[in-house]
Amino acid sequence: MKLQDKVCIVTGAASGIGKEIALSYAREGGKVAIADLNKDAAQAVADEITKTGGTAMAVAMDVTNEDQVNAAVAEVVAAYGGVDVLVSNAGIQIVHPIEEFPFADWKKMLAIHLDGAFLTTKAVMPHMQKSGNGGSIIYMGSVHSKEASVLKSAYVTAKHGLIGLCKTVSKEGGKYKIRANVICPGFVRTPLVEKQIPEQAAALGISEEDVIKKVMLKETVDGEFTTVQDVAEVALLFASFKSNALTGQSIVVSHGWFMQ
Ligand code: NAD
Repeated sequence: MKLQDKVCIVTGAASGIGKEIALSYAREGGKVAIADLNKDAAQAVADEITKTGGTAMAVAMDVTNEDQVNAAVAEVVAAYGGVDVLVSNAGIQIVHPIEEFPFADWKKMLAIHLDGAFLTTKAVMPHMQKSGNGGSIIYMGSVHSKEASVLKSAYVTAKHGLIGLCKTVSKEGGKYKIRANVICPGFVRTPLVEKQIPEQAAALGISEEDVIKKVMLKETVDGEFTTVQDVAEVALLFASFKSNALTGQSIVVSHGWFMQ
């Protein structure tokens, strides 16, 4: 088991990519906290894990709210004794052309993706420092951490920002064996992407099928979506890696959409 008794907090784990990461960490022996805005859905994921013999708890957390983040991390530490792995994954998508992008939506996007990553990192780092065993902090970036697309100014800006945060956390965390890395997935068919297909079709004046073929998957090597399992594999590698050799990095998992 690659994560035996490791305490892992996964934000946005009630759905999609975060849920699959939580399931995979639990299969590897991790004690997993499902942190999400949607407490009922988080509880359902925790129940799914415990029913199959794993260890999990649900915690309510709006990642943009410092008090809620600190309270949820404290709840996990009280239950499981510390924090070894943080996956800062909670995220949403809002698309508009820049000149029509409501300022409130811009601020919401930056708050969820960047404030959320900062606040959860700030809350877990003291526990990782105190344990003496270090830890692994994983940010859910995107191909949009490296590349831009029309209509996604706030998302692209936020996802690029995570790379800067990751590199800084790596440098400050190095002496405590705290590693930080970014996963950069291509398109994965989660509720976040299902919502975008009709929105982009309307904004670009093309069919939904063309959004998938000619926009989302156009640059991949095989026209395939990345899967939640693909992303969870990389999340397991980052969480279970044993030394500071793998820190400050970003791995793109996108069927070759973006190559570096
Ligand atoms: P999803 O919509 O399936 O899940 C997102 C989860 O985040 C939901 O459970 C939601 O309740 C939670 N959430 C939203 N706002 C929150 C908040 N303020 N506090 C706490 N939880 C909150 O989406 P997903 O596709 O699984 O996306 C997860 C992450 O992966 C996001 O950061 C997203 O940007 C990133 N990502 C997704 C794709 C993709 O194609 N799906 C590609 C690259 C990166």
